[in-house]
Amino acid sequence: MKYTLRICGATACRASDSLAVMDKLKQLIEERKQEFSDKGIDVEIKEVGCIGLCGKGPLMVVEPCSILYTNLKVKDVETIVDSLLNHRVAENLLYKRDNQSFEKINDVPYYKYQDRFLLRRCGVIEPLSLREYIENDGFKGLKRALELNPEEVINELLKSKLRGRGGAGFPTGLKWKFLRQAQSDVKFLVCNADEGDPGAFMDRSLLESDPFAVIEGMLIGAYATGAKKGFIYVREEYPLASQRIKQAIKILRENGYLGENIFNKVSFDIKVVEGAGAFVCGEETALIKSIEGKRGQPRVRPPYPAERGILGKPTNINNVKTYASVTLIFEKGAEFFANLGTENSGGTVVLCLSGDLEDTGIIEVKMGTPLKTVLYDIAGGSRSKKELKAVQIGGPLGGLVPKELFDIALDYDSLKEIGSMLGSGGLIALNQDDSILKLVSFFLDFLRLESCGQCTPCREGVVQLKKIIDRIINHNANYEDLDLLNKLSDYVKNNSLCGLGQGTPNVIESSLRFFINEYEQKISGPVIYTITDACIGCHVCAMNCPVQAIEGQPKEKHFIDQSKCIHCGKCFEVCKFNAITKD
Ligand code: SF4
Repeated sequence: MKYTLRICGATACRASDSLAVMDKLKQLIEERKQEFSDKGIDVEIKEVGCIGLCGKGPLMVVEPCSILYTNLKVKDVETIVDSLLNHRVAENLLYKRDNQSFEKINDVPYYKYQDRFLLRRCGVIEPLSLREYIENDGFKGLKRALELNPEEVINELLKSKLRGRGGAGFPTGLKWKFLRQAQSDVKFLVCNADEGDPGAFMDRSLLESDPFAVIEGMLIGAYATGAKKGFIYVREEYPLASQRIKQAIKILRENGYLGENIFNKVSFDIKVVEGAGAFVCGEETALIKSIEGKRGQPRVRPPYPAERGILGKPTNINNVKTYASVTLIFEKGAEFFANLGTENSGGTVVLCLSGDLEDTGIIEVKMGTPLKTVLYDIAGGSRSKKELKAVQIGGPLGGLVPKELFDIALDYDSLKEIGSMLGSGGLIALNQDDSILKLVSFFLDFLRLESCGQCTPCREGVVQLKKIIDRIINHNANYEDLDLLNKLSDYVKNNSLCGLGQGTPNVIESSLRFFINEYEQKISGPVIYTITDACIGCHVCAMNCPVQAIEGQPKEKHFIDQSKCIHCGKCFEVCKFNAITKD
């Protein structure tokens, strides 16, 4: 009998100490190897990529029975070893939802309702094992693509309805066609792994977990477009992803999958460029400058990169997930891919779930899946058991989807219709008590810092937008500020040079559209005082409240009865422990 233990060694599980769990497992199995041998049990330990349920890591899957263990600690290792020796399940380490335990990974709701195609090898194979990659359909796509001529490859891609997964959703086949048609001996292909959205980490995960699949997609791109040189632009805050992709390139070079005359059909090699982590370098023209060693600032388009890109030569840039999708398309066929999606967009959507959800991490569903399936069936609804009131989707340049629209299909066009966007797939869930205005303020602060500063509407406008929002949050604004917010949003949107400035107002506009009540409450409603867990029960606030609205026993946390409170702020003034917030 042989057990294979697949332990997640990707960044999220490493952060919760999965490598220490793995080391302890190796040590204990070695110490008890005689017992395993006497019982005829063989154990293999494999460090795999991201298994996906990042919020409950470290994660481990025991094969061949496919049992998922979650929230592992070093102290659990003895239980795991005993369970292996006795062919038993370690019940206390199983995944649980609503007091029900699930043994097999595919029965766990988080996985059961997913359609894992791009993520099919993530958490299954050892990321740098070329043997395992090939055994799991690796390079099938490339071989199939090389049987076609380059024009046929591009036609297949157009048939698949693949749209760029970086955010804009431009048809990938068309982009490749432009590069193919460009008249130049030197052309470049770039993989944009400059994932900078707060709440999005799927590109990092793919590079860490299935790096060969991304490179295979680039090889197909090189054959179709005629590019001979490629770059993978990854931010240096992603050390594991960067290290994995560099190692993967080295392995492929050594095995004849990169370099001259690959399968006698294509010559292509790749260089990894590490960016300094500027969000704006996700924009194509800024990324190109950064690769050239210049300051990463966008420029006016046209000319588009397909005409003038790196060093003035035609260049095509696609996102990590786009290249991984190309690999899937040529492995399974354009029709298969197109049928996974909607009328206008083929394939699947990879999302990073965060915020107030029971289960968070990376998931994949068919394009067009209702948002509520993701929030409730897959993620299990609110972790705090409060009602969800909205999700922010598409990162800082995306928009809000209120709970009334949770039926919406997850695809480019449906989200665009309500002023949101799929973006690169970050999804943050907010509950009834979360402040929409504070979320808007957070994103504006992020974008203020990330603005490259070369055009005034963005550089100065975003600072002023943030000031207005903060005035509103602090009850220091009036309705004229709301008008100003609208006008300035329009101005920044219409006069900024690149997508960062143009997209900044999205989150303001969608918050005004769906949550105007929160703005009005701050402008014309009373200040709400609340006592936090920092309260030590000194009772000073209760003694100073002119209407006896504060209750609580000495040395215990106190409460404000909001029906009696006259919002005078006396409690806020007298509290010496910063235990009272005003909202
Ligand atoms: Fe730079 Fe902002 Fe102008 Fe874009 S819009 S070029 S980020 S200043």
